[in-house]
Amino acid sequence: MGNVRTRVAPSPTGDPHVGTAYVALVNYCFARQCGGEFILRIEDTDQARSTAESERIILQTLRWCGLDWDEGPDVGGPHGPYRQSERSEIYREYAAKLLASGDAFKCFCTPARLDEMRVAQRAAGQPSRYDGLCRTYSAQEVARREAAGESYVIRMVVPDEGTCVVEDLRRGPIEFDYKSVDMQVLVKSDGMPTYHLANVVDDHLMKITHVFRGEEWVSSAPKHLLLYRYFGWEPPKLMHLPLLRNPDKSKLSKRKNPTGILFYRAMGYLPEALVNFLALLANAAHEGEDELMDLAAIVRRFRVEHVPIGGPVFDVPKLDWLNARYIRERLDPETFVERVREWGASPDRLARIATLAAPRIERLSDLGSLLAFLFAGRIALRAADFAGKKMNEEQARQALTLALTELDALPVWNAFGIQSAIERVASSLDRKVRDVARPLYVAITGSPTSIPLYDSMELLGRDLCRERLRNALDVLSNQPVPA
Ligand code: GLU
Repeated sequence: MGNVRTRVAPSPTGDPHVGTAYVALVNYCFARQCGGEFILRIEDTDQARSTAESERIILQTLRWCGLDWDEGPDVGGPHGPYRQSERSEIYREYAAKLLASGDAFKCFCTPARLDEMRVAQRAAGQPSRYDGLCRTYSAQEVARREAAGESYVIRMVVPDEGTCVVEDLRRGPIEFDYKSVDMQVLVKSDGMPTYHLANVVDDHLMKITHVFRGEEWVSSAPKHLLLYRYFGWEPPKLMHLPLLRNPDKSKLSKRKNPTGILFYRAMGYLPEALVNFLALLANAAHEGEDELMDLAAIVRRFRVEHVPIGGPVFDVPKLDWLNARYIRERLDPETFVERVREWGASPDRLARIATLAAPRIERLSDLGSLLAFLFAGRIALRAADFAGKKMNEEQARQALTLALTELDALPVWNAFGIQSAIERVASSLDRKVRDVARPLYVAITGSPTSIPLYDSMELLGRDLCRERLRNALDVLSNQPVPA
C-alpha cells in the first residue's frame, strides 16, 4: 500500500457535531503518525439539506480545533474537486460502468409499489429489502419504459445468497448475510448520486487508504465492499468508531446534551482542551502519563488498537477539569488576553455591543449588570421570573417551546431571521410579538428588559441560545436547574 491517506467527510447539513471532531481527530492522528495525508471532503449529495453556511462553519470549527487538512475544498489538492456536488460527471461515468457490467440496474418501481412491498415484507417477518423486480426486465422492456418517460433510479445488485465479511481494524471480521443487505439506490431519479456511490468512488479516486468513521456506517460496509469488487478496486482498511454517549449511556444527542462544537466554543472551552478531551475518549493517554496533551503529544501517543469499541462517555466535568488546567497552566497573560478576545471580546463584537448598550445606560458602570449575560454560559432562573401580566408560566412555556422549534429551523443565525421566527411564534399563538418576547428576554438575558433581544441572540450564537431556552423550559417544568 502506498502513502497513508485518511479523510473526514462531513455532510454540511447542520452545525458541526463534537462526534465529527472526534472522527476527524482519529483520522488526523493516524495520518500524521504515519507521515501521510489527511483530507477533508464535503459530502453534499443531499442537495435539499446541504447548505453553504453549514459547510463554512464546519471548516471553520475543525480549523479552530487545530485539525488542519492537506487537501480540501478550501485548500485544493491534486484529487479535487473535494465537494461532491462538483463531481456529478464523475459519478455518472462510474454509474454507467456498473450498468454496463450488469452490477447495477435501472429500477422503475413507484414509491407506492415500494411501500406495498415493504408492508408485505414486514407482515412476513422478512427484512426490508428491494425484491429485485426491475432486475428481471429485458433490455427491450427497460428501453420501452425509458422511452415512455418513466422515471427511474439506479440500484446496485446484491447477491441473494451468501455472506459478506467486513474486516474491521479494531473489531475484527463482522459477518453480514447478503439477504439482509438492500439493493441500495446509487443514483436518484434526478440523476444525483447517493452517499454510497459517491463515497466509494471518491475514496478510491482520492487514494484513501484508511477509513475511520462512525459505527452508524457499519451496515453500509457490505454495500461498499461489493462496489469495490464490482469496480475491481482494492478497498481501504475500515474501522468503525464508537458513538459518543451521554453519562446515562444513551447516544449523545442534542435533545439531551449540547452536541455542537460551537456550543463548547461559546461556553469558553479552549480548542486545545476540547481536542485533548476527545483524545482521552480515544484512549490516547497511557496509564500513569499526564492526561494533558497538546496535539503533537496526542499524535505521538495515539494508538488505533487503544480506541475503545464501546461508546466513550462525554463526561463534561472531565472537560471542565481539563479546560481549567489549560487556562491555569498553559496560558501566559498575553495568550490569555488573546483567548478572551477571540472568545467574546473581538473588536467587532465589542463595537456592536457598545452601540446597543449606549442608549440604555446612564453611567458606564451600568454596563456590567446590563451586559453580564453576553459574557456568561448558562444563567440561573426561577419559574416565577417568567410570570408576567400577559402570560402565565404555562403560556410562557408554550411560547418558548414553539420558539425553540422555529429557531432550530432557521438556516442562518442572524437578528433578522430570529425576529421573523419570533413573529411566527406570536402569530401562531395569536399574541403580540412584545408579549411573546418577554419570556424570551428572561430566558436569554435573565431579565424582562435588556438590550435588544434579537441582536443579543445573534451575538450569543445559536447554541448558547438553544441551551438557555432549554434551561428555561426545564425550570418551567420544575426540573432541577443544571449547574
Ligand atoms: N458523510 C458521512 C458522514 O457525514 C461520511 C461517512 C463516512 O465517513 O463514510 O458521516
